[in-house]
Amino acid sequence: MNLFFSPDNPNAADVDLKRVYDAVVVGSGAAGGMAAHVLTSHGMKVLLLEAGKKLNINKELKSMEWPYDHPRRGDLPPGSHVLTPAEYAFRDRPYAKGMAYNHVYSYIEDWGKGDYSKNIVVDEKDHPYTGTNYAWARARCLGGKTNIWGRLGLRLSDYDFKAKSHDGYGEDWPISYSDLAPYYDKVDLYLGISGHKENLDYLPDSIFQRSIRLSKSEMMLRESLAKMGRVLTPYRAGVTTDGLKHNKYRSRCFGRGACERRTGGCDIHAAFDSPTGLIFPALETGNLTMRTNATAYEVTVDSVSGRAHGVSFVDTESGKTYEARGKAIILAASTLESARLMLLSKSKTYPNGIGNSSGHVGHNLCDHTMGPRVMGLVKDLVGAPRTLDDGRPGGFYVPRFRNLKDRNPNFIRAYGYEGFGGCTMLPEEAISIPGFGAGYKKAVREHAGAFISLSSFGEVLARYENYIDIDPEVKDRWGIPAVRFHYKYGDNEKKMAADMGDAAKEMFEEAGIEVLHVSRSLRTEGWSIHELGTARMGNDPKTSVLNQFQQSHDVKNLFVVDGSSHVSASCQNPTWTIMALAWRSCDNLADQFRKGEL
Ligand SMILES: Cc1cc2nc3c(=O)[nH]c(=O)nc-3n(C[C@H](O)[C@H](O)[C@H](O)COP(=O)(O)OP(=O)(O)OC[C@H]3O[C@@H](n4cnc5c(N)ncnc54)[C@H](O)[C@@H]3O)c2cc1C
Ligand code: SF4
Repeated sequence: MNLFFSPDNPNAADVDLKRVYDAVVVGSGAAGGMAAHVLTSHGMKVLLLEAGKKLNINKELKSMEWPYDHPRRGDLPPGSHVLTPAEYAFRDRPYAKGMAYNHVYSYIEDWGKGDYSKNIVVDEKDHPYTGTNYAWARARCLGGKTNIWGRLGLRLSDYDFKAKSHDGYGEDWPISYSDLAPYYDKVDLYLGISGHKENLDYLPDSIFQRSIRLSKSEMMLRESLAKMGRVLTPYRAGVTTDGLKHNKYRSRCFGRGACERRTGGCDIHAAFDSPTGLIFPALETGNLTMRTNATAYEVTVDSVSGRAHGVSFVDTESGKTYEARGKAIILAASTLESARLMLLSKSKTYPNGIGNSSGHVGHNLCDHTMGPRVMGLVKDLVGAPRTLDDGRPGGFYVPRFRNLKDRNPNFIRAYGYEGFGGCTMLPEEAISIPGFGAGYKKAVREHAGAFISLSSFGEVLARYENYIDIDPEVKDRWGIPAVRFHYKYGDNEKKMAADMGDAAKEMFEEAGIEVLHVSRSLRTEGWSIHELGTARMGNDPKTSVLNQFQQSHDVKNLFVVDGSSHVSASCQNPTWTIMALAWRSCDNLADQFRKGEL
């Protein structure tokens, strides 16, 4: 097994642009990687256009490098600036405009040791956006955000797909859980996911590989929650814990204690990332051609037939522009970038942007609220022997419990929590203990494994009035007009936030955990990195952009297979659903292609 094999950056000149490909896919993250994998597996000849570089991710992440082996213990070089939470609220947009720093990054570069991911995430100076407050984290390189994602892989249920039928708000999805379940299964088996079966109808189980074990404090909380009719389950990690015989680019997880020490990512690819999980295997079919450094800026149109003709892109290094031709065009540039591309693709045939006869492209933007959390101390664990609790790719998840059988009087929909309890290499909570000298060091060591936390993720309702459009003046480094946000949380999100904090506190108190700190305030919009909804699916072409197979209602050979197609946000992390949907749609696309319908 050669774990570190990675095909070289394709030479741009070798990519034949005179040819008409069966499909052109834009973007190589979770959605684009899946589209490339599925379409090439059906024998279709696919061209993948990716705006970023192909990086040697193993060299970037250096997952096992010790802090003292790095000249700045992992910190960014001087001249770099990471946007602070406060700056998202008070600075004018674009956030990096006029800043004297050489490079400006989003808040996520402050999560781990930013120097390891600085080439993966975008420099805000090159990628401006405007409008209302929004913390927009982006990764531009082969694999996109999957190179550093937190890999919590959750399924949606009919409480999500049929949410309108449940509480009357918004729209139901045009599919049910039973439509997607076989594709969730395929994603589980092909990519690997670790977890523990709980048999919940509101958080369906995956086909799990070996579960992560819970730490002592986590087990204690699980037992206490069970008495309240709530569930704490080991982190459902999109990580192969048993290995994948069919994939030579990925290793099983060795629990090396590295997951929690960087923004994200795994240099042996036990954690799923799109290049090793999907794209390299697709290249092996001989059906995939890839061009990196290729930023799409328009879907071109055949003015006679109204069909998508191809994709215009700019070479990010030379600045030259080209067109790639395809019989089917598949957008997978991520929720906001795909919507931006559709809105930029104005023509005589489609004056509001391609696929936008409904006027819904860019609208119904939704994501997850974050911020409310609780920090607690398990007193019985103070002074207990150290355990290797960060030698695993996550802690635990507490699924939703509101608005299932009951109706909360203050808000609709729900929230879940991610949490962690136990020892980590860097005892971040313990080092905030007061004191100094030998006594301080002793206290830090003794308390290191006794902290436990819950952090919430709540559903933001999809609303037409939350949207993005194109800024009339601001452009990115390549002259492509920028995204402008019009996005605010509403009353439902604010009321839910108060409950997220209160319920977390109540659960700790019930479990006998000392509550150290409770937060009920919301982070800046966008903080969850789970943007969804800007080209939603639906049965009615007047109120939706795509059909249930993520195919444009207006333009038959145009597909949008990322999170922009989601009808509502639910409160579960979206990536496993993005991939299951993309697989289902691309199977259908290949079938239409075979029948000559595209
Ligand atoms: C730190 C972090 C933690 C996360 N944790 C989780 C988690 O625990 N669970 C979860 O479900 N999700 C998580 N996410 C979110 C998850 O990464 C995304 O949902 C997922 O990557 C979306 O896939 P995508 O293909 O739509 O977008 P991306 O992965 O962003 O890929 C889009 C690709 O398109 C390319 N692109 C963009 N514009 C263009 C263009 N114009 N032309 C050509 N190419 C273009 C980009 O360069 C990129 O490679 C996390 C994200 C981050 C950053
Ligand atoms: S704990 Fe597992 S998934 Fe996390 S970095 Fe180590 S090997 Fe990768």
